[in-house]
Amino acid sequence: MARRFTSLAEVMADLQKKTANRSPAARSEGLTNENQYRCPICQDKGFLLEKVPDLDEEGHQKKWPNGTPKFIEILKDCQCAKKRQADHLMKFSEITPKFRKMTFSSFKLEGKHELIHEAYQCAVDYYKDFDRIKNNRCNSISLLGQPGTGKTHLLTALANNLIQKKQISVLYFPFVEGFNDLKDDFTLLEEKITKMKRVGVLFIDDLFKGRDYPTPFQLEQMFGVINYRYLNYLPIMISSEKTVDELIEVDEALGTRIFQMCQDYTVVIPRDIKLNHRLEGL
Ligand SMILES: [Zn+2]
Repeated sequence: MARRFTSLAEVMADLQKKTANRSPAARSEGLTNENQYRCPICQDKGFLLEKVPDLDEEGHQKKWPNGTPKFIEILKDCQCAKKRQADHLMKFSEITPKFRKMTFSSFKLEGKHELIHEAYQCAVDYYKDFDRIKNNRCNSISLLGQPGTGKTHLLTALANNLIQKKQISVLYFPFVEGFNDLKDDFTLLEEKITKMKRVGVLFIDDLFKGRDYPTPFQLEQMFGVINYRYLNYLPIMISSEKTVDELIEVDEALGTRIFQMCQDYTVVIPRDIKLNHRLEGL
């Protein structure tokens, strides 16, 4: 049976109610009441209409014949759409909830060696330069050397910023644990390698960690991924206790590609126990 509406306000109210019922967010949370939008600003539409001045070719606001200024309405993404996208990217990134809390401001610089300050500045600069350099030959970052100096914290903070503020897809791959998960499951391996090749930014944590690493299998997989990204100008973020020379020693082709990709954003912290902030206070 068709409903009859007596006013435009009634039509709008009915439409809004229907939108609420259709909203995926509302559905997934079992919300049907029109007052229970997850985002009250856009009522879960993900966009807003914004009034902006209607400008002529010289940039002056147009006027109606009676002299009042002219405006036009444009569609603008609501902030909740960005947040939803960031939440989705965060899930995809495989960054653990504990690591999601790592930020630049939670990184303690006080009393730290100047090379750690340099590593911090390098990560911050990389974030600031990202939009300009992302398609260049040198579009990547590596923090190398002494373990326990906060390299992982800095690169995780960088990843969190890229995801949350720039909506860039990032994939976190901890070298040792990552390969442990993959070594017996070839279906998983293929899927993971494809993701590692194609994601917006690949973050490899602790590359070639351990005295006996890498195995020929790990080297082959890493070369496949990094060479693909090198050839396609896709950024990588690398932390490793190995220095540039040591990476080249492990595999010359791989080491030199990493160096070319990261050379503007590389800090090498020599192995000196005094730098180790995990050992402070002992
Ligand atoms: Zn919204």
